[in-house]
Amino acid sequence: MKIGFIGLGNMGAPMASNLLKAGHELTVFDLDQAAVDKAVTEGATAADGLGDISTGDVELIITMLPAAQHVRSVYLGEDGLLASVARGVHLIDSSTIDPMTAREVAARAADQGNPMLDAPVSGGTGGAQAGTLTFMVGGEDEEFAFARPVLANMGKNIVHCGAAGNGQVAKMANNMLLGISMIGAAEAMSLGVAMGMDPEVLAGVINTSSGRCWSTDTYNPYPGVIETAPSNRGYTGGFGMDLMIKDLGLATEAAKTARQPVIMGALAQQLYQGMSFEGHGGLDFSAIIKRYLKEPE
Ligand code: NAD
Repeated sequence: MKIGFIGLGNMGAPMASNLLKAGHELTVFDLDQAAVDKAVTEGATAADGLGDISTGDVELIITMLPAAQHVRSVYLGEDGLLASVARGVHLIDSSTIDPMTAREVAARAADQGNPMLDAPVSGGTGGAQAGTLTFMVGGEDEEFAFARPVLANMGKNIVHCGAAGNGQVAKMANNMLLGISMIGAAEAMSLGVAMGMDPEVLAGVINTSSGRCWSTDTYNPYPGVIETAPSNRGYTGGFGMDLMIKDLGLATEAAKTARQPVIMGALAQQLYQGMSFEGHGGLDFSAIIKRYLKEPE
């Protein structure tokens, strides 16, 4: 398929690579020329701006951008995609943004004859490279059926979550729970160790008991428990604290619209924000455990 791909960052670049490997023809655009050049070495064609993609002969355009304001500008801006894209070209936005913006952009696209899906992902940069992402997809049944094989070139779980915006709802709910559960894991591990338990033995008990979750069995925040976790490499790499703050902000904002309390989500956001305020926003979010550990004497 001829595909336009916009946003070749940490996630978008490996996703585009996997589409090329699957045999699709890609025309790519990013504000960062180095990212475009790298995709070109892998077989993509560089576009001369957004208009070059929307007026080309692509059948589908995929975007992978940082946040809602970028999605608004790329789709709805004066020189944005919707200003020039041909009727019938399919659109997929895989950025993580708020469901309200996703619904608004999808409605504007549908009004002018461009079916659109929101398809945010889970699985991180490792999942993007390995092509094992989970896609949480919002939009019409027919459009989901069209996009599924292409998404399957980049991910292994492709889940239709319902109407437009529902992919973002699923992503938001999942990440809010992740943010909360990591703080719970940090608190429980720190208490147990402070009271004399060996961290590995404690994690082993939790991971075969009712407290088990991804934050304890895959990404345990206590150093030395899980070899591959960021806690074992000084909380570098992984999922940045500031990105978690962004995702919790999406949840608390959406909760205002839904008039729904998110007490733990809001508290979690403030705890991470405190860490970011102290200069730790670039660390992996599991560094929240620093709140609970005494500095070595
Ligand atoms: P990133 O900042 O590495 O990449 C974003 C890319 O978009 C950059 O290359 C930037 O130059 C480009 N861009 C910005 N504005 C543009 C514009 N107007 N036109 C063209 N290109 C533009 O971000 P990322 O880590 O790839 O994340 C992308 C999205 O995926 C975010 O919404 C993020 O929350 C989500 N996400 C990230 C991860 C992760 O582990 N990094 C995991 C899951 C979901």
